[in-house]
Amino acid sequence: MQVKSAEFLISNTDPAKCPNPDKPEYAFIGRSNVGKSSLINMLVSRHGLAKTSQTPGKTQLINHFIINKEWYLVDLPGYGFAQVGKGTRAGFVRMIDTYLTTRANLICTFVLVDSRIAPQKIDLDFMTRLGEQGIPFVIVFTKTEKLKSGGLQNVQDRYKAALQEIGWEEIPQMFLTSAVNRAGQKELLDFIEPLNRD
Ligand code: GDP
Repeated sequence: MQVKSAEFLISNTDPAKCPNPDKPEYAFIGRSNVGKSSLINMLVSRHGLAKTSQTPGKTQLINHFIINKEWYLVDLPGYGFAQVGKGTRAGFVRMIDTYLTTRANLICTFVLVDSRIAPQKIDLDFMTRLGEQGIPFVIVFTKTEKLKSGGLQNVQDRYKAALQEIGWEEIPQMFLTSAVNRAGQKELLDFIEPLNRD
């Protein structure tokens, strides 16, 4: 897919106020600082579309963008923040859960994980929740240009083993990306395209 246009539409905290679910939708989520904003900007080749390096945990909004006037890209709040209180965190988790479980046009969720860090419980728990709720997702490794040779295979094997250990039989699809050298851009856009056609 060629990205011809990418526009910001709306930010909100209430999943019920998201745009009409009349187009296919793809959501991006991950721990704060995983490189989500950088990946979104790289993917659609628009510097500064999604804001990078905001205070972790402060972007607590569901941000809708429209790409090629055809599909919605959603930037979800980062999870795993130390800076916010328990009550705020619970509200947050509820908002993300409500969005993920009620959004009728959500086709796939991209769960971002930092390729340099060993599998973390918080990410595995999040994936398990998605799996239990039947929400389709793929795993997107970020910052892969930092890996040494052989690292690209290792990172996938390590994640696969961690998922198998907690009972996963069918391993979700994985993508290797870097906002620095643009790795994975074509693969992700090609993955979105066929899903996006009917
Ligand atoms: P977000 O909080 O998940 O939206 O993360 P950002 O996109 O703001 O990135 C967090 C930090 O990681 C920033 O310092 C980025 O420059 C850095 N970063 C993001 N993507 C990459 C990448 O592909 N490679 C490297 N080396 N650093 C990255």
